[in-house]
Parts: sequence; C-alpha cells; structure tokens
Amino acid sequence: VAAIDEVRDRSTQALVEALRAHGTLTRAELGQMTGLSRATVASIVDELVTRGLLLTTQSGAGQGGSRGRPPATVRFHPRAGVALGISMERENLQVALLDLSLNILAHRSLEFDLDPPVDKLLEMAAELCDEALRDPGTDRGELIGVGVGVPRPVDPRTGAIELRNRTQQREGHDAEAHDRFTGYDVESTLAARLGVPVMIENDANVAALAEAAIGAGRGRDTVIFIRASWGIGGAVLRRGRLYRGRTGSAGEFAHIRVRDDGPVCGCGRRGCLGPLAAGWAVRRVLEPALGRTPTLREVAELAAGGHVGARRVLADSGRLIGKAIAGTCLALNPDAVIVGGDLVGEGSPMLDGLRQSLQMSALPASVQALSVLPARLGPNAGALGAAGMVLHSPAGAAHLAQQL
Ligand SMILES: [Zn+2]
Repeated sequence: VAAIDEVRDRSTQALVEALRAHGTLTRAELGQMTGLSRATVASIVDELVTRGLLLTTQSGAGQGGSRGRPPATVRFHPRAGVALGISMERENLQVALLDLSLNILAHRSLEFDLDPPVDKLLEMAAELCDEALRDPGTDRGELIGVGVGVPRPVDPRTGAIELRNRTQQREGHDAEAHDRFTGYDVESTLAARLGVPVMIENDANVAALAEAAIGAGRGRDTVIFIRASWGIGGAVLRRGRLYRGRTGSAGEFAHIRVRDDGPVCGCGRRGCLGPLAAGWAVRRVLEPALGRTPTLREVAELAAGGHVGARRVLADSGRLIGKAIAGTCLALNPDAVIVGGDLVGEGSPMLDGLRQSLQMSALPASVQALSVLPARLGPNAGALGAAGMVLHSPAGAAHLAQQL
C-alpha cells in the first residue's frame, strides 16, 4: 500500500508541476506532459478538484468533448494560493493579484505626479494591495507573498537594491529616482506592513519574466527584452529564465555608449543610450514644440495620433536602441527582441526605427531570423511578473506542497 501511495504522490507531483509551469492545460496536455494515463490524470484531477486545489472549466461537451467546442481545461483554484505583484513607476503604481495559474484575480493602479517620497509610495502600494485583496474575497491566509519591481538593479546575491555610483555627480531627473530609494529597506517595510514575505527584483526583469511566461516571449528560446519607459531597462532571457549576471546588472542597455559627444549620463560617462533615448529625455525634446513637458502617455498618444515631432523622436529612440543592442544580438543570436514600456503603445514608430538600425548594424543572417515584437501584456507586465516571481519561487512551491 505504501508503494502505491508513493506512486500516486509522484504522479500528483508531476501533474501539479506541469500546471505550475504552464498555468492552464487541457487533460490531454496534462497526459502528454506527465506521461500519465488518461485515467490517472482524470482520477488525480478529480481528487484535487474535490479538495479545492484545482478548477476545471466546461467544454460544454460530454465525455471526451466533441468537435468545434473548446476542450475542458484544468487550472489552480485561487484557494491553492495567490500572490501580489507591485510595479513602481515614476508616474504610476500597478498592483495585481494572481493565482498559481497566473490568472489576474484583481488589479489596481494609481497615477500621480512624478516621484512621490518613497515612504508615501510604499504606503500607497500597500493600500492598493489591501484593496486588491478585498476584491475577490480571498483572505490573507492564502497570500504566499508579494513581489515588487523597482526601477533599480537588484543584486541577486543579497537582494539589495543597487545604488549606482553614489560618489558621482548625476543628471537631474534621473538622479532623483536613484537617490529616492537610498536608505530605504523596501522589502522589510512592505513585509512589516503587509505581514507576508516580500521579494524585490528589477522592474525590467519582472516585466520580461511575465512576457516570457504568458506574453510575447512565450515558447521562445533566447529573448532580449527592452523596456522603454521613463528610463530604458532591459533583460536577457533564456528559455523563460533571467540571465542576471554577477551583480544583477545584465541587460542594463541604457549605459551602452551610442554617441561620443552625447550628454553626460547619470553614471558619469558620456554618450550612453539612456539620456538620448529614454522617456525622460524624449519628453524634454518635445518641450519646445508643445510649449510644455508632456507625460509619457501623452508622448505615446501624440505619436499614435500622427504628431510628426512625437513620431520622429520615438523613431530616433528606436534607432538608437537598435544601435545599442546590435552587439548583443551578434553575441547571443536571439530569436526575438521584445519591446515594452509606456513609449511603445499602439502604432508607436519606435519598433520600425529599431528594426532599421538592427538591419544596418547586425549580421543579415541573424537579423533575418530575428523578430522585433511589441510586448503583449501592456502596463500590467511589471505587476504580473512580480507576482509570478513569487508564485514560481521556492516559497510558492512550498506553499503548494503543504496542501498536497
Ligand atoms: Zn550611463
């Protein structure tokens, strides 16, 4: 009997792992991925549904389903565990509550004037979390943890938010964002306020994770992700996993030099991509034409509406990004460059600029095989990825294992 129980446990484990990796699957897919028979899949799924851990959706058909109807799917019940993701932007906050199948159960966002003090920002984030948790009627006992995307590199060895070049003179607006987090233990402050473990990760990295799991990067092997928002962030993904590098600064494309005589960057050097192509710089370039400094959303909307100046600066930004990442494309031969962030809305000319410059500066064979794609998850990507990071962490696995 013990041996039979052990086999059953292993089969259950395999089925749960397949669902954790893929979110939602049909029974047939579960069979293919685990190698379990149809009868075993059915029996385990039924047991876990009865225990409240899994949910099945109807196909509308009877046994086996019939042609033309979508097959029944299996996914985690929100009761099996949820996580919150927080994305902290310069002009807004996003909070999403996700279940283990990466379905959004609740979402909240808030826009504000640039850069509120960090204590205020964290309190606003905590309040949005409280609201999101009230929404679907889940209680705190089911909350596994909170993931946070921050606009700074995070050291994977220590989990500490890196403060770049403290001793150097830094550039106006960009410098404020760096200094804002100085002396702030975001992780402990939020953990104390919300009463659950908190994980911190760079904002471009969490957005990239979300795109890899359920967005434009799904099923792709090597992906370069660019986040063109207030700043320019980036990430390198291999088979859905982040390549972080030794200090967590892999994918910091903003500091690749693209012009010898460019403006002095926050890092103290000259001609970096960031001060030439990032949102905070682009909005200043448009200032003389508009008579005011537009928000990032306005820049994207103007471009989508055909404003010649806005289209030009976004195309130029795209060309500079292409120039900056061309070497990385030669080195890694990725299958996709995925571009997200506030500057890449509907009809943004940034992607065309990027394609053009990659065609000029990378090998023809590698460019032909390369797709330059817009991100799919929109402004939610950061919060989704931050919550997904918690759900896919050892803590998420442990929470689920307790219930099996
Ligand atoms: Zn720099």
